[in-house]
Amino acid sequence: MNMDYDVIVIGSGIAGTLAAINAAKTKKVAVVRKGYGATALSSGAFDIAGRSGKRGRPFKGFTNLTEAIGNILENEQYHPYSILSMVFSGDRFSEFSSMIKTIGDQFFSDLASAGVRYEGSWVNNIIIPNQHGTFKVTSFCQSSMTSGNLTKLMGRSVLFLGFEKTAIHNKTRASFLSDILTNYGLVSFKDIIYTNLDFNSHGIKCNQHNFISLAGMMDNPEHAKKILSIIKQTLNGMEYDHAFLPPIMGISRYSDVSKMFGDYFGERVSEFLAPPSSAPGLRLQYALDKLLVQRGVKIIDGQVSSENSSDIIKTISISRKDGSSVSLSADSFVLATGKFISNGIVNNKVWHEAVFGLPVFIGTHAVKDSFPMNYLTDDPFDEQVLFSIGVKVDDSLRPVDADGRVVYKNLYAAGSVLSGYNYIYDKTGMGTAMVTGAKAGIFSAG
Ligand SMILES: Cc1cc2nc3c(=O)[nH]c(=O)nc-3n(C[C@H](O)[C@H](O)[C@H](O)COP(=O)(O)OP(=O)(O)OC[C@H]3O[C@@H](n4cnc5c(N)ncnc54)[C@H](O)[C@@H]3O)c2cc1C
Repeated sequence: MNMDYDVIVIGSGIAGTLAAINAAKTKKVAVVRKGYGATALSSGAFDIAGRSGKRGRPFKGFTNLTEAIGNILENEQYHPYSILSMVFSGDRFSEFSSMIKTIGDQFFSDLASAGVRYEGSWVNNIIIPNQHGTFKVTSFCQSSMTSGNLTKLMGRSVLFLGFEKTAIHNKTRASFLSDILTNYGLVSFKDIIYTNLDFNSHGIKCNQHNFISLAGMMDNPEHAKKILSIIKQTLNGMEYDHAFLPPIMGISRYSDVSKMFGDYFGERVSEFLAPPSSAPGLRLQYALDKLLVQRGVKIIDGQVSSENSSDIIKTISISRKDGSSVSLSADSFVLATGKFISNGIVNNKVWHEAVFGLPVFIGTHAVKDSFPMNYLTDDPFDEQVLFSIGVKVDDSLRPVDADGRVVYKNLYAAGSVLSGYNYIYDKTGMGTAMVTGAKAGIFSAG
């Protein structure tokens, strides 16, 4: 039978994009997506690994990245990192670390060519403040943020530029950040100060409390120049070593806008992280879309469903927004549909995977019941195991059933649709999506 594509990838977040661009090195590939998912909503920072010690409390984070990967391979047998490392016969830790680094370095170089440069380290995690007046330990983030790595600001005067009513911008939050960093023994500042930005009184009509719409305004070169000049005026004469700005340095013109700031302020000004929806997540997603186009991957908009009765998938159905539908065939498929936010994993009477109806697991436990509270506790500092629910896979990333049998011979799964890890607790969100996506693309291309 003549197939429409060699490989069809379902989903275009980090996992789907990595799968598609890797498969597209040798195959004809399409990505089908019903929209944007967690990747576009995320902070845009890449957590590769960041927890030390065994599961349970007290939570020990902030470790160096290599130690945290070693911890996962040693203690987390169902984590996708551990599953992918099973194929190595020698030193699993060295071989897996080298594999994820090779995939990551290539991917960050691809992202830079698509206009979003990432910086960070494969050895030590970095610490970036966020809008809530707390901080995030992560491994790589967009280049307009890295000079704000708090571990480098010991003993310095730190200034937060914000807007009245946004969380970081008040005395309590600013001192809260300072206190928790000191209490964790991470960083002590000489001073922590804050000041107001006010664009409206300078004739720029905008919603100052909505960082993403401000970032969108910066995509207009005239607005960007004006906003930069207001920031210069605000900072003029102020005493500080490093100033933090909300993430407003553009979305689709991020590369130009961040360069404009860098040319003027050097490393003295950086962006802090913001919760969803944040400009950095969208910048990342737009760069992924660019990469797909650059690599000749066809992007098809629509929601995928499948009614398959054999152990090989031949076709999928795609429903479009205009009500029409189409069937497409391929030799192999990659499922990269995400978890709850993207509806990759759903709960209607029972928990299951949404496109192929695959069973879902927490560890070895096949989850059949539907009550979410069975997998959540009311202590926010506990690990919430619901977040590790997902599809279980073999070491070629093919979904398996409760007896460990491969369900479909030509289906591979990647990213947050997988079980065995909890991105919040393990701090491996983007790292897992990236490495499983790349490997699923390679496996699907044969
Ligand atoms: C709010 C939030 C903040 C986060 N912050 C961080 C962070 O700071 N650092 C970090 O490392 N991780 C973070 N994470 C985790 C990280 O974002 C995810 O692990 C990662 O983005 C998952 O990527 P993915 O490609 O697996 O899924 P997604 O990005 O969710 O992509 C799923 C794709 O599948 C598509 N899809 C789903 N069902 C169908 C269907 N039936 N038909 C067609 N298409 C379909 C969706 O439209 C979407 O394109 C965060 C997650 C969330 C939710």
